[in-house]
Amino acid sequence: MTMSNKRSAKGGGDQTVPAEPRKRGSESEDIKGRLIVVEGIDGSGKSTQLHLLDKWLRHLGLMVFNTEWNSSEVVKEITSKGKKKALLTPTTFSLLHATDFADRYERNVYPLLRAGYFVLADRYIYTAYARDTVRGCNPRWVRKIYSFATVPDITFYYHVPVEVAVRRILTGRPKLKYYEAGMDLNLSNDEYESYRIFQGRIIDEYKGMASNEGFHVMDGTLDIEMQQRLMRRQVLSLLPPGVAAIASKELGAN
Ligand code: ADP
Repeated sequence: MTMSNKRSAKGGGDQTVPAEPRKRGSESEDIKGRLIVVEGIDGSGKSTQLHLLDKWLRHLGLMVFNTEWNSSEVVKEITSKGKKKALLTPTTFSLLHATDFADRYERNVYPLLRAGYFVLADRYIYTAYARDTVRGCNPRWVRKIYSFATVPDITFYYHVPVEVAVRRILTGRPKLKYYEAGMDLNLSNDEYESYRIFQGRIIDEYKGMASNEGFHVMDGTLDIEMQQRLMRRQVLSLLPPGVAAIASKELGAN
């Protein structure tokens, strides 16, 4: 599909004109699959949960495709170059991520949703809404850029305090990354302090979006198995009826 199809015409437009309500993926006639998204700050545990969900859906015999933020081959090199040399402004940074997203969306996400896949997205448009806004981009401008993207069937937001996230990250590796800590924003010379301020602001953005965007808020501090059970229960309603009956029995037995 191209950006100029009827889906994009619906989503975009002048922000002074009330936007037509956007449909969830499965409410569109041309989408047979389901789009499941996880959002949250780094270290919130969202990838762990999505990975476990992926295993379960495959075990149930469903077709699954995974897509990750900032993983398109098309823009990887230039983003990495720009990051290394600290050449990126908030706008160019935002546009590179939007290009990455558009490439994955048009190449994989949208065609596979049409083909009936369960598409699992580790971060989606809401990551851009949160991060780009904190970096100083106009929130309306950011939303307009991503208006071609279909709304997920469900978005899980993993909420954890910043302290919990940083502890988890530093258990796995020795140092925070420059952009992860928001060092480009000159919030503090100390990278831990900068991380706390930056990620705290991102949490505020997520909190602001939670009800408008219909997030399913998860307590990311619960243990991994408990969170996975809660996630699977929510996903039951998205499964084809025959599969849902089997899955529901399995969950009940756990
Ligand atoms: P994210 O994708 O949000 O950055 P990950 O899923 O990669 O987070 O998890 C970050 C680290 O925290 C990993 O080492 C993971 O094993 C650990 N972790 C994930 N969920 C939990 C949890 N509920 N409790 C404790 N540790 C967790």
